[in-house]
Amino acid sequence: MRKPIIVGNWKMNKTIAEAVEFIKAVDPACHDGATYGVATSFLALNEANKLAKNLIVAAENCHFADSGAFTGEVSVPMLEEIGVKYCIIGHSERRQMFGDTDETVNKKAKRLIEAGITPIVCIGESEAQFDAGETEKVIREQLSGSLADLCPKCVSELVIAYEPIWAIGTGKSATKEIAQNCCHIVRDQVRVMYGDEAADKVRVQYGGSVKPENIAEYMAMEDIDGALIGGASLKIDSFKELIEKTR
Ligand code: 13P
Repeated sequence: MRKPIIVGNWKMNKTIAEAVEFIKAVDPACHDGATYGVATSFLALNEANKLAKNLIVAAENCHFADSGAFTGEVSVPMLEEIGVKYCIIGHSERRQMFGDTDETVNKKAKRLIEAGITPIVCIGESEAQFDAGETEKVIREQLSGSLADLCPKCVSELVIAYEPIWAIGTGKSATKEIAQNCCHIVRDQVRVMYGDEAADKVRVQYGGSVKPENIAEYMAMEDIDGALIGGASLKIDSFKELIEKTR
């Protein structure tokens, strides 16, 4: 039985004060039906993580090196120091704008796993790839690279977020059938690479224009174990509604 995990990815939104206000309001609304969390800016992480009792708090990125001449980057030991337990890696915005590749995502995953931090590994095809019928090929290739050379048990504890780029921030969410089919492909690729136990345990999220009005239909699908949510995770009322709709 996989416990669903629903995470708000705040991206470059919310000051520390805004993060604190949000967590104070939303943390008490969490329930055991799922794991709920938010991914904050690096600056807000420490305050947010100290304050949250029920919500899990995630970083939105990390570097794979422990230290060095990498201006502007944050390392895994720095996340460890403040007790962060989850970290998003390979979000399409990072892949598109900041040079993340399957290879760097793989290095980040390895370093996070070593530190006992759960990676939330993002993958997903572009609109052109979707239109060209390349979705399955892209998903399998991204996972082959991003999850290369890990141990089966490590993979079973991962979270993988399938986020079609054409559905991110567009309001054009994937149908529940498309989302299910793609999350099934994700799980099958894990099965090919790491066997049945890893595939049956790994949690697969759908992301892309998820909101209170559509979250329940995704959650009802067999291979979808939660959601990674951008826009609809930013407002207190909207996040509380997401929590209520997944009770
Ligand atoms: P939206 O929910 O705003 O489409 O963003 C999805 C996303 O990128 C979450 O990581």
